[in-house]
Amino acid sequence: MRSSQMLIGGEWVDSRSGRTFESFDPYTGQPWALVPRAAPEDIDAAVAAARAAFRDSSWRDLSATDRGVLLARVGDLLAERAEELAELETRDNGKLISEMGAQLRYLPQWFRYYAGLADKLEGRVIPIEKPGMFNFTLEEPLGVVAALTPWNSPLMLGTWKLAPALAAGNTFVWKPSEHSSVSALEFGKLFAEAGFPPGVVNIVTGFGNEIGDALVGHPDVAKVAFTGGDATGQRVYETAAAGIKPVTMELGGKSANIVFADADLDNALKGVVSGILAATGQTCVAGSRALIHRSIVDEFVERFVALATTARMGNPLDPDTQIGPVATRPQLAKVLDYIDIARTEGAKCVLGGGRAERPECGDGWFVEPTVFVDVEPGMRIAQEEVFGPVLGVIPFDDDDEAVEIANDTVYGLAAGVWTADIGRCLTMARRLESGTVWINTYRASSYLSPFGGYKRSGFGRENGLAAIREYVQEKSVWIDTSGETPNPFIQR
Ligand code: NAD
Repeated sequence: MRSSQMLIGGEWVDSRSGRTFESFDPYTGQPWALVPRAAPEDIDAAVAAARAAFRDSSWRDLSATDRGVLLARVGDLLAERAEELAELETRDNGKLISEMGAQLRYLPQWFRYYAGLADKLEGRVIPIEKPGMFNFTLEEPLGVVAALTPWNSPLMLGTWKLAPALAAGNTFVWKPSEHSSVSALEFGKLFAEAGFPPGVVNIVTGFGNEIGDALVGHPDVAKVAFTGGDATGQRVYETAAAGIKPVTMELGGKSANIVFADADLDNALKGVVSGILAATGQTCVAGSRALIHRSIVDEFVERFVALATTARMGNPLDPDTQIGPVATRPQLAKVLDYIDIARTEGAKCVLGGGRAERPECGDGWFVEPTVFVDVEPGMRIAQEEVFGPVLGVIPFDDDDEAVEIANDTVYGLAAGVWTADIGRCLTMARRLESGTVWINTYRASSYLSPFGGYKRSGFGRENGLAAIREYVQEKSVWIDTSGETPNPFIQR
């Protein structure tokens, strides 16, 4: 069994209690790694190390350009280790090696991009109207940033926070998901190699319900960056609110993938597959509601079912596998529960609808690709996040109805639109209430483009220029150059 340690203050350490927990391989259903099980005392140590590093001249006085140099080095080291780290992620969360490999080979670009931005955070000179007064601003880091991330894309979602936070001069305490901590701990080794001072990056592992509050509520944590489910997000937000801390929230979704009658159907089919079967439907942007124009819905469902039936399930470490297991045993139970709920509500299952018992799935936590028709927009299967390969098909008659159904959820993370009409592309882009709208594509993302939610999918933006602003605060500095202090009883 593989065994890892946590990174605190530049040292590799066990939890202070010596306790560990098992991380499971979703393909075998067996434990494969031992991970330290942190308690609040370990959180205190990690935050203290990050706080000390924030104040230490080795980090505080490093020029912004040199911070960028360190970040770019991490990007280069990550590029060298991408395959090895991808394999750890696949063992830990069961996602395909083809997907994790592609994700990690792309990830160095985030470090290079924010490396370049580090020394472009400029203050402003304000044309103040008061005679003799000079006023300018400084863009300053916040201090210790705490990051909590989910299991589905561990290093990617960690990097989306880490790279801009470090570029802006903050220090960092990261708690990855208890279901997929191994790659983050291995990745932590790159920071010392790149030359980061000890304590700038700290990684603690453990259970959210045991150490989450201690980290989020720690008085020396200045900012919380969270990605996960909206119920957990609400709790994190409440804990942060007690300490008046800024937060960014990247939460779940119930995204609509809308196919109009004029769409290129071959492409739209691939887009809907990519929305719900890629990553076994375990992405925040899963297009779990297929809104299909009534005139093509029967043909669409028939062709989708044919396509989904040929998808190869099996070992996620096999580069030819297309659908792997779901990541955790509770997640398997949750997806199967939702399938039962959909049936009870009256939706009709036309594909799958249960645990996959195929020989190539072994004892792994597999769910058959599942398609429901006769889904009503108000059903739970059309309103709640399932996080599995379960598609609900909803027909619509015109553009207004498509918009109404698409927007009729508490979430607003992403939406897909498939049409050949450029006018419709633009009106749909405006009318859909979601942080991302993909038109004739799905699941595209880049370090250059902002990502985040509307409504209950969260707030704040990751990636692009917007993200670095989440990790700075603006200071206003006043200098009186007149040499004369006027009547102190009157505000200047
Ligand atoms: P989760 O909410 O269960 O856990 C997320 C993180 O929060 C984990 O590290 C967990 O340990 C921690 N946590 C749990 N309880 C906590 C507490 N009381 N205080 C502080 N932290 C706590 O989410 P998950 O099941 O790991 O991931 C799936 C969810 O993540 C889905 O809802 C998905 O949509 C969402 N997600 C969102 C995005 C996005 O960018 N919007 C991306 C990926 C996943």
